[in-house]
Amino acid sequence: SEESNMIVAVRVRPLNALECTRGQVTNVVQVHGNSNELTVQAGSSADSSAGVTHFFSYDQVYYSCDPERKNYACQAKVFEGTARPLIDTAFEGYNACLFAYGQTGSGKSYSMMGIEALDDAALDGGPPHDEAGIIPRFCHELFRRIEAVKRTQQLQVEVEVSYFEIYNEKIHDLLSVQHAAAASGESTPVQQQHHQQQQRPALKVREHPIFGPYVVDLSAHSVDSYSALRNWLAVGNSQRATASTAMNDKSSRSHSIFNIVLNLTDLSSDDALSSDTDSGSTSSLRQTRRSKISLVDLAGSERISVSGSNGERIREGVSINKSLLTLGKVIAALADSRKATGNGPLGSGTPSTFVPYRESVLTWLLRENLGGNSKTVMLATISPASIHADETLATLRYACKARSIVNRVKVNESPHD
Ligand code: ADP
Ligand code: MG
Repeated sequence: SEESNMIVAVRVRPLNALECTRGQVTNVVQVHGNSNELTVQAGSSADSSAGVTHFFSYDQVYYSCDPERKNYACQAKVFEGTARPLIDTAFEGYNACLFAYGQTGSGKSYSMMGIEALDDAALDGGPPHDEAGIIPRFCHELFRRIEAVKRTQQLQVEVEVSYFEIYNEKIHDLLSVQHAAAASGESTPVQQQHHQQQQRPALKVREHPIFGPYVVDLSAHSVDSYSALRNWLAVGNSQRATASTAMNDKSSRSHSIFNIVLNLTDLSSDDALSSDTDSGSTSSLRQTRRSKISLVDLAGSERISVSGSNGERIREGVSINKSLLTLGKVIAALADSRKATGNGPLGSGTPSTFVPYRESVLTWLLRENLGGNSKTVMLATISPASIHADETLATLRYACKARSIVNRVKVNESPHD
């Protein structure tokens, strides 16, 4: 196996209309030129820390505040820098993960999914709209690449998708069989509505001896084109939206995970897939490569007030904090163990610090993506508004810590299926 640092990118969204009309709200985040550094002016005038400038540096910084500026980062630019490289990663047979982290309203869903209503053309197989986010762009590019590769190599390609959310530490399938009927047009919108209102059973996580943690009974769907995949995305997104309107901004407190499994089987007798010279003679046995790609839109990172008057809300808050809190603990433990082993020899073994993956559903399921066998990108999203400066600083510090995480990756390949 080889080492792979977690890539950390930060995206700054524009001030919104409400913030612009509030006179006292200012933009406190600055990016200078095309650099990967940014500064934040913290503290209101009443604050003792007023005027303090905080400096941060990352692998990538995307400034999406002002379309008129030369370094403006549109959806396409963010995709190109963060997610497109993961297409290569997947074709090589490595696992990949991209997750968006940040406070509610900072642009996680805009970055991951983009604006849905504008993307109808994609349902007919057309390319993603300008406002489409990372997930539809990734899927479109994946199939473009599959078609290109098939023209030159004898490959059998299988793509399977699954999509679920974690809410209150419970897992809900967004593409379960009842939604499948809706996707294939076999039920009327009324029936569809009816299904969505039924109590969906929560799914459980189990540990597979070889493949690791997985969701029991999660539906997985084979797709052979971008438009087929796009249909499933639309099903899951509408499922998510319906659930969240019914339950008052649930989307800010739930995590959504979109998984793609890519299986490549070499059908030619020679080793067309192999580009790895290290493995020498064993490469002739190589027949399949497998990659699991997880694209994750996390719950809002802000601390949820527990002053709510009803018990339900408090319980939600506690659970959401549990998954995000555990994510924080896992990242801290991995960062610490890195510090402890320092510049020691490669392959010096497992982290010396205990990493509490199994304390939450989210971290258990993302175990391989955090310090394990996966090339992982974190996209931290922030607001430039002065009123959010404290949350912005919290997100930026979290993102700094994540930068020190090193994963150990290897190609998933086997001579037999
Ligand atoms: P989150 O998912 O983090 O809660 P959203 O992605 O829903 O936040 O973004 C909140 C609002 O800001 C949405 O209306 C979204 O369209 C808008 N927005 C977020 N990021 C950008 C951006 N980079 N450019 C333009 N609008 C954005
Ligand atoms: Mg969101």
